[in-house]
Formats: sequence, C-alpha cells, structure tokens
Amino acid sequence: MADLRELYQQVILDHNKNPRNFRKIESAEELEGFNPLCGDHYMVYLQMDGDVIRDIGFQGAGCAISKASASVMTAMVKGKSRPEAEAFFTTFHDMVMGESKLDPESLGRMGAFSGVKEFPSRIKCAVLAWHTLNNALHGQKEVVKTE
Ligand code: ZN
Repeated sequence: MADLRELYQQVILDHNKNPRNFRKIESAEELEGFNPLCGDHYMVYLQMDGDVIRDIGFQGAGCAISKASASVMTAMVKGKSRPEAEAFFTTFHDMVMGESKLDPESLGRMGAFSGVKEFPSRIKCAVLAWHTLNNALHGQKEVVKTE
C-alpha cells in the first residue's frame, strides 16, 4: 500500500509541475472556477465538436491538488463524448467524497486522488476543475464556486 501511495504522490507532483493542456484555447467556451477556501482559481476552455470534446485546456493558479486534478481531468476527457466525460465526473466526485465502492486501482490516473477523501478541506480543491467542466458541459455560464 505504501508503494501505491508513493505512486499516487508521483502522479500529483508530476501533473502539478508539468500540467497537461495548460493553455488558453481561442474561440472556445470558457468557464471560471473558484475555490475561496483555498484560493484555487482557474479558467477551463472547452471546445466541442457536436457531442465530443474536441479540445480542452485550462489556465490559472492554485494548490498542487487543484492543479494536478485539472491536468488529469483535461488529459482524461479530451476526445471523449459528453456522456463519457459526465460519467468520469461522477466517478471522480464519488471517489473524493468517499462514496465510491470502486477500487482506486481500477480508476487509472484518477485513482491518484483517492486519498483526498481523508482530508475534507482538500476535497474542494480536487473537484473544482471537474465541477467547472461539468457545468460547462451543461451550458452554464456563471462562475463555479465551491462553497
Ligand atoms: Zn486548493
């Protein structure tokens, strides 16, 4: 278990240091996400092609958990359909809330955030980008605030 925890730590450190899709996409839908408790603040850029996420990016600043989570999210949902991305959101949300019965090892990169449920103050950091994506997929325009 210690090895797995180390691996998860590595995933988070790596995605924090070298965030994937960390860029603005011109002419994309954009939605702002803000977590006042921690100060995490991101813009998520979403470009749909019909029902498929053709491109996704994000920019902004925040703690390691929030940034790594946003990075993993963009890497996972790019090229996926809207229902697939929504299913990922539900899986991720349930996992960090401690409501998932799935084995974190079956969740790939997402599993790296399974330990967050033990730190209630960090749950909002981890779900911020995912909530922002989910709202963007539902055509919402208001700033996403985790409160
Ligand atoms: Zn945070």
